[in-house]
Amino acid sequence: MSFELTILGSSAALPTSKRFPTAHLLKAGERFFLIDCGEGTQIRLRQYGINPSRIHHILISHLHGDHVFGLFGLLSSLGMMGRKVPLHLYGPHSLEEFMNSYSRFFGPLPFDLEFKSHAENSDFIFESDKLTIKAIPLKHRIPAFGYLFREKKKPLNIRKEQIEAFGLGMADIVKVKRGEDFVTDSGTVIPNSQLTLPPFHQRSYAYLSDTLFDPQLAEIVKGVDLLFHEATFSDRDKKLAAQTQHSTAAEAATLAKMAGVKKLLIGHFSSRYKEPLLLENEAKEVFENTTGVNDGDIYSIPPERLSGE
Ligand SMILES: [Zn+2]
Repeated sequence: MSFELTILGSSAALPTSKRFPTAHLLKAGERFFLIDCGEGTQIRLRQYGINPSRIHHILISHLHGDHVFGLFGLLSSLGMMGRKVPLHLYGPHSLEEFMNSYSRFFGPLPFDLEFKSHAENSDFIFESDKLTIKAIPLKHRIPAFGYLFREKKKPLNIRKEQIEAFGLGMADIVKVKRGEDFVTDSGTVIPNSQLTLPPFHQRSYAYLSDTLFDPQLAEIVKGVDLLFHEATFSDRDKKLAAQTQHSTAAEAATLAKMAGVKKLLIGHFSSRYKEPLLLENEAKEVFENTTGVNDGDIYSIPPERLSGE
């Protein structure tokens, strides 16, 4: 299954000619998850060749305009495009009230909006046979949440030649796929690793925006393949970061280092920096495998079998 992130908007509150406000799209298998919906999100989807009708799940981290001003436009377009199937919307409590104002002014949408609020300390906000999504409380000026997407463990694949070699029946195959060893009629134990291919690594993506630097988050996003952490400010504007409850690039990198993630993406750059390379460099001093994202970037994590040895 594919596990691919597209950056639709990489700016903070003010858009620039090259950067739209925040929106990410995660494609996990055949499912598209839109994470935040800043102004212009539907335009970016068009530009990057993504049909908005394919989106069935929208997650809104918090109710600041740069994360939500694109939602009304997108929903209205989906209605005009003839959408009939429900859309699942996840967000803080206040998102429901915000959506009520849509119907008050613009009438009802021609499809159902199924709203689920992020209850704090809740378990998964979404779960399928392939994926789970957890909401992570962040520290910002208003209630805000990050997200942790993680693939579920897949059943083991049996080495076909071993089915015949050991004469495995249907019931044996089910057990072996669950991870059990096989015992032959003569009582010889064939270890599971000899019968199956190495399991797949469970891919993961964590999205942390907007937030103050919070070391407690490191445990939650420990070891993820891809971590997006906001980096609104440069180190030289550290005071401003604290005042507005945002992070600096170096703080984002510190969290990545503490959590031992594989790769760090930073974005949500303040438009005051003409060249966000400065922020990328500040982060790289702390955590080398950092990339400052641009609108249109795609980060794909290929499926990978864990080495059996
Ligand atoms: Zn923001």
